[in-house]
Amino acid sequence: MPQKVTIENGKLNVPDNPIIPFIEGDGVGKEIWKNAQPVIDRAVEKAYQGKRKIEWKEVLAGEKAFNQTGSWLPDETMNAFREYLIGIKGPLTTPIGGGIRSLNVALRQDLDLYTCLRPVRWFKGVVTPLKEPEKVNITVFRENTEDIYAGIEWMQGTDEAKKFYKFLHDEMGVTKVRFPETSSFGVKPVSVEGTERLVCAAIDYALVNNLPSVTLVHKGNIMKFTEGGFKTWGYAVAEREYGDRVFTMQQWEKIKKEKGETEANKILEEAKASKKLIVKDIITDAFLQNSLLKPTDYSVIATLNLNGDYASDQLAAMVGGIGIAPGANINYETGHAIFEATHGTAPDIAGKDIVNPSSLILSAVMMLEYIGWNEASDLIINGLESMFSNGEATVDLARFMDNGNSLPTSRFCAALKETL
Ligand code: NAD
Repeated sequence: MPQKVTIENGKLNVPDNPIIPFIEGDGVGKEIWKNAQPVIDRAVEKAYQGKRKIEWKEVLAGEKAFNQTGSWLPDETMNAFREYLIGIKGPLTTPIGGGIRSLNVALRQDLDLYTCLRPVRWFKGVVTPLKEPEKVNITVFRENTEDIYAGIEWMQGTDEAKKFYKFLHDEMGVTKVRFPETSSFGVKPVSVEGTERLVCAAIDYALVNNLPSVTLVHKGNIMKFTEGGFKTWGYAVAEREYGDRVFTMQQWEKIKKEKGETEANKILEEAKASKKLIVKDIITDAFLQNSLLKPTDYSVIATLNLNGDYASDQLAAMVGGIGIAPGANINYETGHAIFEATHGTAPDIAGKDIVNPSSLILSAVMMLEYIGWNEASDLIINGLESMFSNGEATVDLARFMDNGNSLPTSRFCAALKETL
């Protein structure tokens, strides 16, 4: 009988027939969902011989919701995600016009989905701008609720902007605003709690998956109390909560000061040899450069919202672009998680049966891993690997492959389903 996924003491209870809400999505969303869902169902059926099955429950958002109900994001949809914990969604049109929030941002904020999780890996056969894309295997933990993305900003010339500047100038003694009359203002909140929960999620993930390092990516050299705070609080929580299981580069610095660099390096090597998780940090601009030059230096990264936005897309491009980049927004305490295609509605190719469904399919893979159905997720991964290495792909990828065979979305999914 179909049942809800629940959470108890931080552990998910997943029934054999979990009810999982899905949003088909706008633009290309419809054709992606129609073709991808049978692939996911087949993988589950094959992995568990019919013992397990997802009970999909459609919920509305975006244009389809607006046309049917007059609301872009109906309450029933929010309630379904709240109640069933886990959901999956296609891309949604961002409504243009006053007062309507981005639907994606609304979902993330209302459910407090503080981690934006983006695993970035390469599939054999996919052509990328890198010479050695096989070296890229990086998982991004992007903070999703704070930073300059909190939406606290005022347009230049408004009463609010003037009032805010007056407060800065008169009360806070700020004299550094170069053009106060014509400046817009934004506020960048970064908290200890927000940092700690994100960094802990990244460390937990690295420990569970036996990964070598977590890197805190920040601009603390310039924004000392926000981005710099992220680094300081991140190191502090790692040392406080994980003790001997981690070795931080902050500890390395301390040993270096007290006993010299040789001793510090010796202890670092011992920590690596005993499979301790190394927690380190890097300035964002250096990360963007180094991840291209030396991608093997990075395994899991934890970063603030804006850095994470840039980094995720650069990393995605390094392994073949947004068509195959999956994502999830997760609150590990409440269990709420929404898995999503990371690209937009691609209106230029909608209805043509050429869209690449891999981003949504790989998001479903992440969802299956999240609920512990790894046998099913492995089948899909293996299937995609085999398709891509044979040159079988949608046109966006196939056109760059030497042996590329451009398949329509429907044929690509049908072939993938057969391959499983
Ligand atoms: P887009 O991602 O829709 O398209 C950018 C380009 O990439 C287009 O040329 C498109 O054809 C191509 N593309 C995207 N996904 C592809 C796929 N799976 N296979 C092959 N090609 C693909 O970005 P955009 O044009 O800036 O945005 C269109 C709409 O989507 C806007 O309303 C935007 O707000 C929305 N959007 C939604 C999300 C989301 O729901 N997560 C994300 C980004 C943009």
